[in-house]
Amino acid sequence: MTSQARSIVIAVDGPSGSGKSSTSRGTAAKLGLRYLDTGAMFRAMTWWMLEHGVDVHDADAVTAAAGRPEIVSGTDPLAPTIVVDGTDVAVAIRGDAVTGAVSPVSAVPAVRSRLLELQRAVIGEGGIVVEGRDIGSVVWPQAEVKVYLTADPAARAARRALEEGGSDVAATQESLLARDKIDSGRATAPLTMPEGAHHIDTTDFTLDEVIGQLVALSEAVGAAR
Ligand code: C5P
Repeated sequence: MTSQARSIVIAVDGPSGSGKSSTSRGTAAKLGLRYLDTGAMFRAMTWWMLEHGVDVHDADAVTAAAGRPEIVSGTDPLAPTIVVDGTDVAVAIRGDAVTGAVSPVSAVPAVRSRLLELQRAVIGEGGIVVEGRDIGSVVWPQAEVKVYLTADPAARAARRALEEGGSDVAATQESLLARDKIDSGRATAPLTMPEGAHHIDTTDFTLDEVIGQLVALSEAVGAAR
């Protein structure tokens, strides 16, 4: 790998179910880069709030607690980890309780600034694929490669329902669209297509095809191994 490859930052933004996680992990594995799932960090923060009885709809209460949890993200794309105050929460953060509460928690500026600091510390010297909602716009606007993934709502819901072990597709679509609405409408760092991003609609592509597009974009800026 070249030294430029080690320092590259690939920012992958988009709504839930657009293929961000599989694409980001696959691209990182292929290029020998690290991987950071910032959604998992917001979920971990939300899990902690629920565990500690914080009212997630009370922005003042969430603000007061935002500095307390210690959140540690492991960045191996083949085995990413997320640990809060020493507890592995990888499974717990995917449950309905966290999914239903994460968007209001993520809209609180104190939560965003706390996690922004952690995210920038992990990105550090680069050599990483980072997925989220505001990576190319706020967290790392200087990223060498920025992509914005979208897909038809029906395709997104079908993928998420499959990942969740066959949950109801209609209910999953409703939940995705509700989160999109809050994530796109919030005042601080809303979900948006960053300036300079390549828009890829993944609806009709296979995972390998999308990974191939990201690898090609990365190679074009010098991340070839
Ligand atoms: O990507 P995932 O669906 O796990 O993200 C969960 C939630 O975390 C999103 O719906 C959004 O509210 C929040 N999020 C965010 N900014 C990011 C990543 C995730 O606000 N960079």
